[in-house]
Amino acid sequence: MTMQSATPRAKRILMIGAPGAGKGTQAQLIAQQFGITHIASGDLLRKNIAEGTTIGRTVEELVNKGELVPDSIIMDMLRKPVLAANADGGYVLDGFPRTVEQAEAAYRTAGDLGVGVQIAIHLEVPEDELTRRMLARARGKDDTVEVIKHRIKVYEEKTRPLLDYYQQRELLIQVNGARPVGEVTWSIVVQLQRAFKQRPSAGRAAAAAPSDRAVA
Ligand code: AMP
Repeated sequence: MTMQSATPRAKRILMIGAPGAGKGTQAQLIAQQFGITHIASGDLLRKNIAEGTTIGRTVEELVNKGELVPDSIIMDMLRKPVLAANADGGYVLDGFPRTVEQAEAAYRTAGDLGVGVQIAIHLEVPEDELTRRMLARARGKDDTVEVIKHRIKVYEEKTRPLLDYYQQRELLIQVNGARPVGEVTWSIVVQLQRAFKQRPSAGRAAAAAPSDRAVA
């Protein structure tokens, strides 16, 4: 039995947004709403850094500078939690993929395992609001003004192209993230419910037919 047939209705959702767009907050709320697991690549990296693991020591400088860490580290780190979540109802993935290359690599793995993403949510927030939110939150060394600006630049250059990637596959939900938290959540939930009704088994198609809409 494949992982997929064991969990044919697992919900697999991605959050895409610039730093400060509210990905973490919304991912957590959406995960609660649908009873699925929230997996945040940035949180996992920060945990590794705090614990001084091998991964943590390797990525610390890059994370503090707002640079992306190597794909192989991210893929290895996420593999287990993603598979476990998929077997347990599904996931909201927050912070991955960050580049088209990561999406393609994840798609190659995910197709085989039947854990392809069903829906990507884009939280759009204007840049001045992003900077304001990030400074207010000031989480750590990666939240100085210079690093914030750099992280937004990295997002524009490397992550924004992902929107076209998912749009072309008809998997993208667009949400105005510059509104109060509850309104944003509501808008996401309504659109997700509609999308799940339209294509409840989209993820299953990924394993059988890689050209279908369900990709990572
Ligand atoms: P986040 O909390 O998602 O904003 O991530 C914090 C930092 O972790 C980023 O600025 C990157 O340095 C690193 N990071 C998180 N996710 C990824 C990813 N998918 N690929 C590469 N680097 C990542």
